Amino acid sequence: MPNHEAKLQHLSPEQLEALYREYLKGEKIALLLQRYNLDIAPGSLIKALPPVPCAGLTCPYCKTSLYQRPKCRTAQSSKELLAFCKTCDHRHYFASPSNWRCECTCRPCQASRTRVHQEQAVEQRKRVREHWSITRKNPISLQSLSITHRLQMMAMLQVRMDVRHNCLGAADHAVGDLRVSPSQAMDSTILQALHEKQLLLVDPESPLEAFSRDQPPKAWQSKVRWLSNVSLDGQRRASPAQLYRALHSSLLEGPRRHWHDEIIDCVQALCVEELCTYLAAQCAAHGLPWESARRASEAAARLLQVHSVQRACCLADAALQGALTFIARHQVSKAHAASTIAGCMLALSEQAVREQWLLTPPQNAPRGARSSLNQALFGVLLKQTDHGLEQPPAAYTALLAGRADP
Ligand SMILES: [Zn+2]
Ligand SMILES: [Zn+2]
Repeated sequence: MPNHEAKLQHLSPEQLEALYREYLKGEKIALLLQRYNLDIAPGSLIKALPPVPCAGLTCPYCKTSLYQRPKCRTAQSSKELLAFCKTCDHRHYFASPSNWRCECTCRPCQASRTRVHQEQAVEQRKRVREHWSITRKNPISLQSLSITHRLQMMAMLQVRMDVRHNCLGAADHAVGDLRVSPSQAMDSTILQALHEKQLLLVDPESPLEAFSRDQPPKAWQSKVRWLSNVSLDGQRRASPAQLYRALHSSLLEGPRRHWHDEIIDCVQALCVEELCTYLAAQCAAHGLPWESARRASEAAARLLQVHSVQRACCLADAALQGALTFIARHQVSKAHAASTIAGCMLALSEQAVREQWLLTPPQNAPRGARSSLNQALFGVLLKQTDHGLEQPPAAYTALLAGRADP
């Protein structure tokens, strides 16, 4: 028994009850100490009072009444927000804004929570399996895949293939530095496109955190694992490794004539994305806000009509330096200075062509950050050793014109 509780030992339960009642009514503490003959510091009275039973609350395990510390009549203390069992460790937390996350940590309570979680997980897995079932999805034959989808699929497999689970890993759990495409936005667009064409299916065995709790459960694009839904024999789904090998050899044969238009679009889109990603990263490194993606890609596309990605990066650097000088000399806002970059790049581009500038590629040009899409397109399919960086995009696609079908 704590020392201060011992000082109330001479009082009967009825007297203690009366003392507490008078205290709550607002009686002066000095008077109470005198009336009940208590040798106690006034501030310790409430601490000395024994716990009071809570009407209507019993311990679910011991079936005895729960108790509560006597309430202080001024400020409320955190101990008053809970009731406790005198026999076991069970605690009951009363609802209050500061109490909303409190859970009893006694062993039976923990065990029952674990049981509930397990039951919920079983239910959720059932719902996920029903909604994202792959049994009714027919595999798509590799022969019918467009070149864009072959390139996208191969890029995706190269980076995300998870041989152990026979699937493609979640984007959020990517390991290593190799990227699918130059930017996260493009990665996500590729994933969406392959999903819409049902070339990639949501793996219903992905971790449950990858799905929403509502009905039907939604799949979070960056959290779920994916199953490839392509067949080599027209019947069975090929494993990711088999599909990767088949795609690789189909691309290695070189561009077929009916792929040409799509290849031109792929080269253009990839080069624009390389340049935009480079510029966005440089802007971020200098604390400048980046312009709208649409304006940036329009300017990038115009630059790449005459320049290689590497030369365009040099011009982008020069335009960025111009914006920084503009801020230093004229104290304009960063947003204002950044808004001049696209126009400045285009003006510099015309001047560079007119005056035949020799441009040295910047140290940190995209070469270091080559993506798997770049490898599939420029390396495997077009067999260009310069990663598509040293010539204007049109120069690569011009090579296609004179080629016969492999
Ligand atoms: Zn108990
Ligand atoms: Zn408990």
